[in-house]
Amino acid sequence: MYEMRMGPDEAGTGSVWHVLAEGTRSRALCGGWADPPTPQGHTRTERHCGPCLNLLRERMRAPAATGAPGTA
Ligand SMILES: [Zn+2]
Repeated sequence: MYEMRMGPDEAGTGSVWHVLAEGTRSRALCGGWADPPTPQGHTRTERHCGPCLNLLRERMRAPAATGAPGTA
């Protein structure tokens, strides 16, 4: 349900995988990245955006994210 998209890292010196925010294709969870450039303009990377991963982890831990008992 969460899409990854390659984009510039925070320092702007390389590429990282960001997690796309829900309901948009141009913003990452970390909020510091928008308007994704074409993949061809980026070197392939195995790195992931730290802030995006932290935010994703928090969301997955949140009870509302899954069908927890007691939530209708
Ligand atoms: Zn990010």
